[in-house]
Amino acid sequence: MKDIVLSGIRSTGNLHLGNYFGALRNFIKMQDENRCFFFIADLHSLTTHPKSENFHENVKTVLAEYLASGLDPDKSVIFVQSAVPEVSELYTLMNMWSYVGELERTSSFKEKVRKHPDNVNAGLLTYPVLMATDILIHRASKVPVGKDQEQHLEMTRVFARRFNNMYGVEFFPEPTAYNFGTELIKVPGLDGSGKMGKSEGNGIFLADDEKTIRKKVMRAVTDSGPAEPDAPMSEPVRNLFTILEIVSDDDVVRFYKAKYDSGEIRYGELKKQLADDICRITLPIRERIMDIRSNEKYLSETVKNGAEQARESASATLAGVKKIMGFKPFW
Ligand code: AMP
Repeated sequence: MKDIVLSGIRSTGNLHLGNYFGALRNFIKMQDENRCFFFIADLHSLTTHPKSENFHENVKTVLAEYLASGLDPDKSVIFVQSAVPEVSELYTLMNMWSYVGELERTSSFKEKVRKHPDNVNAGLLTYPVLMATDILIHRASKVPVGKDQEQHLEMTRVFARRFNNMYGVEFFPEPTAYNFGTELIKVPGLDGSGKMGKSEGNGIFLADDEKTIRKKVMRAVTDSGPAEPDAPMSEPVRNLFTILEIVSDDDVVRFYKAKYDSGEIRYGELKKQLADDICRITLPIRERIMDIRSNEKYLSETVKNGAEQARESASATLAGVKKIMGFKPFW
């Protein structure tokens, strides 16, 4: 039997290299061998209160970026989260076997509270429940996510197990994180520390033009030069090497590592190489983004067809859950 694979993305802002290498690229590689579901998480995006006039446009942008990156509607089910109302119904049910204490302890929740103390809404607290719902509603077994989502996925496993134990069933599979390499990837930002993110202002977006990419990379934080022999590499420089390892060929990485080790490295040259390799990967995607974004008919046909297939899968799971929980129709 084929594995069921699921991946999603919030419709807040454009896709960056972290999204591409952390999640999307793995997902695209899986389309041929598995039954793949991909969705745009517009409900999740509501926790940050997007303006209503931008809401729909954001969904379209992310959709176009995913399609341009290689997601194929003939191979995968591509849909918008809110077009599958079964998700919201299962989310309500799932909230009954998710506990406030465990949600409050989630590191992403604690981080959000710290960063945005003025907007600690209940949707943020139950964010992992909605994420688990997205996965479990298709009974997905593999979820290609970046390292930042490991904890959410662990919680999904807990929720699945808890439901199965509570009702004495083997209904939900426990999904695992999936990556083609051996380790989950974390793409660092260009600002010296932390991961590349949409709102951190430290990222390269798939829709960036060449000039912007070069400017961003050339401005990336480094240090004042290679450290003493055997001293650890500084975090900003390590981050640049991490990105180099992701976008460049092995011999290029070896070349710059050797230059670093011998103390001869020029960060300007390293950055130029990095910018060249990033452009090589992202500029063809950017061209496709512009084509697809203007093709309204293609976009709407894709998600209409996707929603039909996603609803079929979601309603079967929801019906199963309700039956197990004791719901019975009156008519
Ligand atoms: P987000 O942009 O937070 O909605 O994340 C969408 C997907 O991209 C998730 O599967 C994340 O794990 C992945 N992702 C986001 N940022 C990074 C990053 N800097 N490195 C690796 N994966 C990432």
